[in-house]
Amino acid sequence: MQFAAPMDDEAIAALEQLKKTVRIAFCGVMQSTRLPPMAALSLAAMAVGSLYLEVAAAHRGDNPCPCGWQPRSASDVEALQTSLALSAEQPRANFHAIQVAGNA
Ligand SMILES: [Zn+2]
Repeated sequence: MQFAAPMDDEAIAALEQLKKTVRIAFCGVMQSTRLPPMAALSLAAMAVGSLYLEVAAAHRGDNPCPCGWQPRSASDVEALQTSLALSAEQPRANFHAIQVAGNA
């Protein structure tokens, strides 16, 4: 699943739920450790990676999840990297468009 495309309401709600949960966990780590922010953020990314391994494992073998998803490690990890990169980008404010509109 790629999230470069616009998300539907269900995905937006799921994202908000996950953001809230991850933020709470991250703040807990920051308060209970002396880890610098990037170290804690890297651990959060590693936690997502290990979650991927668990979910992928549940979709392989003799008694896989019946949903039909077939993990493809290389392209799945690439999709996760893309999602991380896109969501970490600064939102691009279009100041030029705002100025032009303001001067019109
Ligand atoms: Zn499944």
